[in-house]
Amino acid sequence: MDYIKKLWRFIIPYKKYAYLNIFFNILYALFGTLGFVALIPMLDVLFENKEVITAEPVFNGIANIKDYVFDYLNFYMNSTYGDDKQSALNFMAIIIIGIFLLKSITGYFSGYFLVPLRSGVLKDIRDELYDKTIHLPISYFSEKRKGDTISRIVADVGEIQNSLLAMLELIVREPFTILFALGSMLAISGKLTLFVFIFIPISGFIISRIGKVLKKRSDKVMKEQGIFLSILDETLSGLTVLKGFNAQQFFNNRFKNSTTRFKNHLTNLLRRQILASPTSEFLGIVTIAVLLVYGGHLVLVEKVIDGSDFIGYIGLAYGILTPAKKISKASYKVKAGNASADRVLEVLNMQSSLEDKENAIEKVSFDNIISFKNISFKYEDNYVLKNFSLDIPKGKTIALVGQSGSGKSTIANLITRFYDVNEGTIEIDGISIKDLTKESLRDLMGLVTQKSILFNDTIKNNIKLSHTKASDQDVFDAARVANAYDFIQEQPEGFNTNIGDGGGKLSGGQQQRIAIARAVLKNSPIMILDEATSALDTESEKMVQVALENMMKNRTSIVIAHRLSTIQNADLIVVMQKGEIVEQGNHQELIAKNGTYKKLVDMQSL
Ligand code: ADP
Ligand code: MG
Repeated sequence: MDYIKKLWRFIIPYKKYAYLNIFFNILYALFGTLGFVALIPMLDVLFENKEVITAEPVFNGIANIKDYVFDYLNFYMNSTYGDDKQSALNFMAIIIIGIFLLKSITGYFSGYFLVPLRSGVLKDIRDELYDKTIHLPISYFSEKRKGDTISRIVADVGEIQNSLLAMLELIVREPFTILFALGSMLAISGKLTLFVFIFIPISGFIISRIGKVLKKRSDKVMKEQGIFLSILDETLSGLTVLKGFNAQQFFNNRFKNSTTRFKNHLTNLLRRQILASPTSEFLGIVTIAVLLVYGGHLVLVEKVIDGSDFIGYIGLAYGILTPAKKISKASYKVKAGNASADRVLEVLNMQSSLEDKENAIEKVSFDNIISFKNISFKYEDNYVLKNFSLDIPKGKTIALVGQSGSGKSTIANLITRFYDVNEGTIEIDGISIKDLTKESLRDLMGLVTQKSILFNDTIKNNIKLSHTKASDQDVFDAARVANAYDFIQEQPEGFNTNIGDGGGKLSGGQQQRIAIARAVLKNSPIMILDEATSALDTESEKMVQVALENMMKNRTSIVIAHRLSTIQNADLIVVMQKGEIVEQGNHQELIAKNGTYKKLVDMQSL
């Protein structure tokens, strides 16, 4: 029940189908029971053990419905067929076939209406998970493995689908089957049915004991699945390194260790799960055996039940076994689904620490100044930036230089609000960026990083990513500014050439210029370049440098550079060390100072 409650909001849009499914399931259960009950008059005909009823019976209340219906059938067959037993049998057979046909048809329809619910819920959960994945802060993913996210979206949602079906059967079809059968059994013999009532809670208790650990085990299985999907993801994205360093064996072992653990957890889980059917079957057979002994006594010795009623009764009792088996099996599946639902909901209910404020401001232009006011920031325990203050006036180019690890990229992460500062504020035109909508903030900025992130698509679509409605002409212009137009034209299909996974079909310099074209097309007033040229050889660096200088014209830029030759013309050079500013000024001033910057320049010109 808890499980249904968790998923309830996903089911609501498909309520209609749930009701239809329930409706047909109830009919299904009803016809299933009627089929067995209808056997009784047929047996009566066969054994000729009922006195013939010649007067039309009168209906006297729902309590005696069974007698009324049977007597009426008896009366009807007698008046119609008389002594023609064969025809009477044929008639009964047709009735029974009719009932079972109705059962099959309603069974089909119950499934028919369940399908849109299942696939709809599946789709909605996946969509919501994906949407959440896109909106969760970057920091979430530096802690979680990618494979874990994939596993939740694929495997856990699949598991939910499976168990949701099981669940709906569990709460409607099978219980009603049992209910109707028990009702008819009570009508036939209250005394006998008492035994069944004693056995049901006992079986239920035993079965639920066995199922206790299932949720935890299923959780382990799913977690391990996330781990080996992560290994697979790392393997695929690092294939060249993996092969180049002959690390196949190492990765092979890592993968196998994970799949071995997966195998063990799964074996444990499935072994428990398959215990459900045999247990309930055995308990059911014990019940039936008891019924046979005691019921036989009532028939043969005490003669309070007649033979055909008893056979029909045993038929009904046996008919309860299958649904009981299914319920215990379904309840085990639901436990596994419950673990998956928890994993899915964990992501869906994750509060993003970077949520927009309720009345966040939509900022459409950058007019004046960006200021870092005394900010401190840490990813984990150690402060990466300490009391950092800096003003960046509109139209200026500011360069951040310093050793690797000094916190330069962190500045880029903070101003784009991938992370929030721990202390101090970052303001744009005097407004804290925490008060802006993230979307409008990021609209103000174009970002080019060291790793040009390209997608397996055409060149045009990769450029248009930042501005999907851009015209072809705009794309061409952006490519020209990015110094990329010529080489793109030389590609087999020009702008429509597919560039492969991660842009792998292009050289590093070409990839970078496409990434720059993307930033140009976005046409944001603030440009952030994080080591945009440092992955390139000298030749392509020159090409890209031209592209960058074109782009930075008339814009405000924050340039993070490793190679100092590229930033000599910056209006202000900020030298960082261990998260603090140690020097600032323009190139001449800093050289004249003969400090850290001078040392860095000297080292590079060697
Ligand atoms: P730079 O760009 O100047 O080379 P970074 O700003 O990338 O340096 O990193 C500054 C420090 O922050 C480094 O010591 C690095 O180890 C740490 N760091 C960077 N990213 C993360 C992260 N996602 N989680 C934890 N620590 C990080
Ligand atoms: Mg960096």
